[in-house]
Amino acid sequence: SREPVTSTLLDLLERGAAEHPALLEPGQPSLSYAALRTSVRTLAGQLQAAGIGRGDRVAIALGNGPEMVLAFLAVASVASAAPLNPKYRADEFAFYYEDTNAKALLVLPGTLEAARAALLPGMRLIEVLPDPDHGIVLDLPAAPFQADQAAQPDDVAMILHTSGTTSRPKRVPIRHRNLATSATNIIETYQLGPADRALCVMPLFHIHGIVASLLSTLASGGTLICPSGFDALRFWGWVEAYQPTWYSAVPTMHQLLLARAERNMAVIRAHPLRFIRSSSAPLPPVVMERLEATFGAPVLESYGMTEASHQMASNPLPPAPRKAGSVGVGIGVDVAIMDAEGHMLPVGERGEVVVRGGNVVDGYENNPEANANAFTHGWFRTGDQGYLDNAGYLHLTGRIKELINRGGEKISPLEIDDVLLRHPAVAEALAFAVPHPTLGEDVHAAVVLNTPVSEKELREHCTRSLADFKVPRQIHVLESLPRGATGKLQRITMAKTLGITE
Ligand code: ATP
Ligand code: MG
Repeated sequence: SREPVTSTLLDLLERGAAEHPALLEPGQPSLSYAALRTSVRTLAGQLQAAGIGRGDRVAIALGNGPEMVLAFLAVASVASAAPLNPKYRADEFAFYYEDTNAKALLVLPGTLEAARAALLPGMRLIEVLPDPDHGIVLDLPAAPFQADQAAQPDDVAMILHTSGTTSRPKRVPIRHRNLATSATNIIETYQLGPADRALCVMPLFHIHGIVASLLSTLASGGTLICPSGFDALRFWGWVEAYQPTWYSAVPTMHQLLLARAERNMAVIRAHPLRFIRSSSAPLPPVVMERLEATFGAPVLESYGMTEASHQMASNPLPPAPRKAGSVGVGIGVDVAIMDAEGHMLPVGERGEVVVRGGNVVDGYENNPEANANAFTHGWFRTGDQGYLDNAGYLHLTGRIKELINRGGEKISPLEIDDVLLRHPAVAEALAFAVPHPTLGEDVHAAVVLNTPVSEKELREHCTRSLADFKVPRQIHVLESLPRGATGKLQRITMAKTLGITE
């Protein structure tokens, strides 16, 4: 793995060149690197004068846009940022304030009643105001930035919680050096440079958006195109107006874009992307194929998680091969396969994916049990199952907690999802375990349809590509599939969601 990059986020911003804007918001004037650095220092000085410093945690509830970028960088430069999903309800805000021990909350004036209502006693409300010179300014007295009191590479830049797909969200303290190392790995993977323009569609309260879009762009001197969030209708207008060279997104977003692509082929052809990145959830090979055929650009699937400051592996740029169904190779990160006893497994054998490198955090906060289970033998256990092929590419076969155990036969639900998605009538698919009296678990699937089709036909379609024991006993047709805040399918709770007992 790469030597840890011991830089702060403020250090990373120093790399930006003069000729390219740092930030672009559709319809607004752009912000240069010089202006960005001045703004971040101005806001950081205001926070310091308000008594916020190293060791303090500050919640930020802002939607995507330059204000979020500036507020995040300023908070992380003097204290620890806790970016929160603005869509939370009051009791969710209260949980995160308390769990992170937030000292203050940053919001826009007149917004987020729920976030305000949930403020804990002693927590300070700081409003983020628009400012003609700095983009934004905080509703606090101005004061010069004290560089000698600023955050250091070992300080916690950001507190995030895991997505909570498999259990209660875990609190992850991510240090400046973790973020700097991860951004450096991503820059190397995609050869990012000042001429690149990333279209940021991922939410900036999640590790994927913060590191893959925001930090990797600003640390390589490129331009971040930063609209208010993903929008499959407005996406094409942004491509036309700002000519991004790439974007990173979750598979659900790619699928929504594919559904609108046909009527936007002129834009796609006029403004080709250098590559498209997919991460945070499995990209079904059939979606990758369609995306490449439609955009005429390489689609590079990557493997990320909160505890690794996002990226652990990625498919490489051409001419190196990319493999559908694989998340690629470790870049700056060591990736290996381990059994339950801590033995490394050879090429081709399935086991738990483990990683190590300067991007991986030191441990969860206040969770000795999770730390004892996950940080073993000098490696971090990801909870994902997979194997390495003889070229060193990692193939994920599912989360260990999501594998379907049908009478001792372990079934990867991902394989079933992909087969179902290959049927033209199927728009979305999710295979999952249901309790079974003798087998322990059996396989069901849920689908969202493009056009009507019988369950019998779908099961016959599965039988053509899957061994009988993997064919879903029942296929439920739904209006939509349950997803978490960042678009992750909620597979483990599916049987419960549908009220299936036995
Ligand atoms: P929790 O840990 O609370 O259950 P979570 O694991 O979903 O939630 P994140 O850190 O946001 O929280 O997600 C990391 C996980 O996402 C990985 O461990 C892996 O299971 C999944 N993942 C990320 N990228 C990919 C990918 N390209 N293919 C398959 N799975 C992926
Ligand atoms: Mg996880």
